[in-house]
Amino acid sequence: YGDFNQKIDYVFKVVLIGDSAVGKSQLLARFARNEFSVDSKATIGVEFQTKTLVIDHKTVKAQIWDTAGQERYRAVTSAYYRGAVGAMLVYDMTKRQSFDHIARWLEELRGHADKNIVIMLIGNKCDLASLRAVPVEDAKEFAERENLFFMETSALDSTNVETAFLTILTEIYRIVS
Ligand code: GDP
Ligand code: MG
Repeated sequence: YGDFNQKIDYVFKVVLIGDSAVGKSQLLARFARNEFSVDSKATIGVEFQTKTLVIDHKTVKAQIWDTAGQERYRAVTSAYYRGAVGAMLVYDMTKRQSFDHIARWLEELRGHADKNIVIMLIGNKCDLASLRAVPVEDAKEFAERENLFFMETSALDSTNVETAFLTILTEIYRIVS
């Protein structure tokens, strides 16, 4: 019944980017899994899901885009970034390389996206604490230097998933309202 006949005040497009296998699709699946969510299939090569939530008494439809195996460098097209007001830059905290590639993803994002886009760095798979390959200090430092929000999450056990999406959506709301 979620979205039915509901007046939508804002639609926020948020894109997920980062290396393959860091957990982007699982983060989206975790976030979108509730009775207010509406699953959608996009047309060409990309997929998004929507979730409607209330922020400051306004109805906000979050349209979260997920890459469909285009994580190869420069394979994500500008259509993917077009109109995005938020981006989740995801790495796997058990895979150092996925964190090392974040600077490149950020550069690509800044080359394509709106100047005022809200960006959150996400260290996913924090349930695998014993396999940690990226110290939290490294990520915090990078995020501070680049002016990004930062959170460690687990799509597996839900840690911070809702909080991460709510944080970025609330910040976007704060900017556009
Ligand atoms: P994507 O390529 O970035 O979309 O990554 P996926 O969402 O497909 O996830 C890649 C793999 O990592 C899958 O085997 C997932 O089950 C696993 N995975 C995703 N998120 C987590 C997490 O938070 N914790 C753990 N332990 N595994 C995860
Ligand atoms: Mg995926």
